Amino acid sequence: MTRLIDHTTATACHPWPDDVYLQGGEHGVVMRPDSAGGPYTTAFVEIFPLGTFLRGEGPTIEAAEDACWKKYLTWRDCDGTGEPHGPFEARGYANGCGHCTRCGTWMTGVLPVQPADPDREPGPLENALLGDDEALGEILGTVARADDLPDGPRGDAA
Ligand SMILES: [Zn+2]
Repeated sequence: MTRLIDHTTATACHPWPDDVYLQGGEHGVVMRPDSAGGPYTTAFVEIFPLGTFLRGEGPTIEAAEDACWKKYLTWRDCDGTGEPHGPFEARGYANGCGHCTRCGTWMTGVLPVQPADPDREPGPLENALLGDDEALGEILGTVARADDLPDGPRGDAA
């Protein structure tokens, strides 16, 4: 059975379960601080299984799907012992999200929610959602010049 990756014309190469929503794009724009190289465009494929969000990036949809599939298998199987994910560590998240210390998968609702860190710098998307017009302008401007942005790192940027 063939299955299309939503928002693309690509047919999925991997046997994704029916209950996993699969979407992608040829020219996703990734916001990244200038200190980390600035914004770039990439092909991407992403899925939203319960409790997490997995995304693969690559020069082509096929490569992005391969990267996403690898993450999916890691999420599905963890370290292969059959034990549930965990323990988790926050790695900077205070909103209950954390990374499994065994397989590294990022998951939601696995840690207690912490008080906000007053020193944390919100990213441009968070600022835009909070009503910061300058941040919104930066995002829209970046998306508008997507054709001029460099291609992302080959392989998986995450
Ligand atoms: Zn795990």
